Amino acid sequence: MGDAAGALREAAQRLAGISDSPRLDAELLMAYALQIERSELLLKLPGVDVPAGFSGLVDRRQRSEPIAHIIGQKQFWGLDFQVTPDVLIPRPDSELLIEEAVRKFAAAPPRRIVDLGTGSGALLLAALHEFPDARGVGMDASAAALQIAHNNADALGLADRSSFLLLDWTLPDWTGALGSGFDLILANPPYVATGAQLSADVADFEPHQALFAGEQGLDDYRIILPALEKLLSPDGTALLEIGFDQANPVSEIAVKNSYHIELKQDLSGNDRMLILHR
Ligand code: GLN
Repeated sequence: MGDAAGALREAAQRLAGISDSPRLDAELLMAYALQIERSELLLKLPGVDVPAGFSGLVDRRQRSEPIAHIIGQKQFWGLDFQVTPDVLIPRPDSELLIEEAVRKFAAAPPRRIVDLGTGSGALLLAALHEFPDARGVGMDASAAALQIAHNNADALGLADRSSFLLLDWTLPDWTGALGSGFDLILANPPYVATGAQLSADVADFEPHQALFAGEQGLDDYRIILPALEKLLSPDGTALLEIGFDQANPVSEIAVKNSYHIELKQDLSGNDRMLILHR
């Protein structure tokens, strides 16, 4: 059996072909195999044997399986979230919504929050973590996703301030079960065009139900935007994630529905969020 430091270097080389972050991937898998934190690797690695399962984990990653699926978790907003193939893996880009919520509600925190298409619960639970007096509800059309969101609420100590509802926004009157008067609405709905070419780690492993939204990727926006009227409190704000090329069409739908809007870009400079209020 070889030493773990050598195996780590070798794994990073093997993963360079399929990943943009081969060294990070290899470190996350090694830390998982050793059951330690990634931050402990530098200190603990010297002199350690390669853990038994490590090469199998690297094989899985080499077949494009996302790290989050292999290790069963992903960090979002500094919090650990359980992740399975039933939920979209939380993306760093989506942290923009939480950043904006923190900025917008600095003076008067939201009391009621709703997350439309909550998936793992990442957006809702990160917001509840930031606003300790708020209560929130996460809705999703997938019962399997809601189970994960529930687990995450429990693990993060947020279960007493969150609830989860199985709801399908393609059915009539879906907002009825949620009620109204939400100060903050969060949503990262499916917005990928059906014909879009996604990388294998997304297309082959993540739930299509959470990704694809018709020919232009706008089907879910066409449903959600008109319905916000019923959910928003009089001076409430909705923060919606959009695709990098969707600022114009989504803004158009919003303006048609008489909302005031603002756009913000992610760290790569792409349009990523629509801020909306009455
Ligand atoms: N940002 C995701 C991707 O490009 C898509 C997320 C979504 O459809 N809401 O893979």
